[in-house]
Amino acid sequence: MKKSLNFIQLIISLLFFQMQGTGQSAECGTDYIHKNRMQTDSAYRKQILKLESNVEANTQNHANINLKSTLYTIPVVVHVMHLGESIGTGSNISEIQIQQAIAGLNDRFRNVNGLGVDVELEFCLASIDPNGNSTNGINRVDGSGVANYSANGITPTGNPCSGATETAIKDLSRWPVSDYYNIWVVSEICNGSFVGYASYPVGGLYDGLVIVSTSMTSNSGTLPHEVGHGFFLYHTFNGDGGNVSCPIDTDCLIDGDRVCDTPPHKQGDCGTTNPCSSTGVWDNSRYNFMSYCPLVNRFTQGQKDRIRATAIVAPRASLLTSLGCGALGINELNSNNIFSVFPNPAQNFINVKADIKLLGASYEVYDNSGKTILKGRITSEETIIDLGNLAEGFYLFCVGENLKQSLKVIKE
Ligand SMILES: [Zn+2]
Repeated sequence: MKKSLNFIQLIISLLFFQMQGTGQSAECGTDYIHKNRMQTDSAYRKQILKLESNVEANTQNHANINLKSTLYTIPVVVHVMHLGESIGTGSNISEIQIQQAIAGLNDRFRNVNGLGVDVELEFCLASIDPNGNSTNGINRVDGSGVANYSANGITPTGNPCSGATETAIKDLSRWPVSDYYNIWVVSEICNGSFVGYASYPVGGLYDGLVIVSTSMTSNSGTLPHEVGHGFFLYHTFNGDGGNVSCPIDTDCLIDGDRVCDTPPHKQGDCGTTNPCSSTGVWDNSRYNFMSYCPLVNRFTQGQKDRIRATAIVAPRASLLTSLGCGALGINELNSNNIFSVFPNPAQNFINVKADIKLLGASYEVYDNSGKTILKGRITSEETIIDLGNLAEGFYLFCVGENLKQSLKVIKE
């Protein structure tokens, strides 16, 4: 039995490689790593089984208010593991691209297109680092010195491909997983075999997701897909044996993807009818972020329940009380406490409350590219600045001598 399982896994992994070569939609390495660890790492297997039972119990307990109506915000740190390029070039993607990718991720989790369900889960780029200092939530590290990274990218642990080891790359930059959801942006994974992979929620030093730089974009389907894995969602076709047979779905909370409103299917079935099932809402699977289908646009209520049932137990629960984004949404004081801005995030106006020493000082507001967007003078201890014409996003407000005093403002 074990031999035939290994054989099937070999076929699955070959399929991954082949399908990527033919330009099929996003291939994800999560299954490969997960199945490997389930077989070789008994502690991991134990953790997954325990989590499964916790999540299943939480999911069935719909009376649990935590599953219903609280907006959860997860602090994120993005580690850009580049090849030595200048910022904004190649794998060293720009800050604005990262911000837009996180905004796109949030749009998908919040169901902005209206086609699925609002998961009521959001992600914020960290504003406070593990040492309590302010940060833009992005760490840039040149990974080209790690053996095999420039040639083949990163190798997920347990995969036989010949890139840099996962731990060597992640050890260059990682933040505590109890307070930050870690995202590593890499040049490539296994020499182009995968576009992303994520750890199921078992914690540990290397927990998080890995995504290729070209998929870390505002319209990426890969980013919500991998974050979905990070919150314990399986593929909608889970159990299809690598596009071989219809997944068993006798008990929808235990079989297949363990979600009840995503009909079971084979990964290659994305057409107008589902050969595996005539019940349920087929669009929920074939347009699902957790499918491999070419057009993806939704999470479902069942997936929302599973994500939120996961979020409220270890190891993800500590993220819900993390102070990683603590300065956002409240007054963020600069180091000398001589001015503050509120509200922040802001919609149309900000009030700048300034120490009397700043009266008459000039201010400037910069966008992400460093361009001056607004300028003026502090005319009273409370100055109102109109942001109405600015696009949503992050801005830097600078004031004082040589405009040295600064803080980040979010327009939403
Ligand atoms: Zn996947």
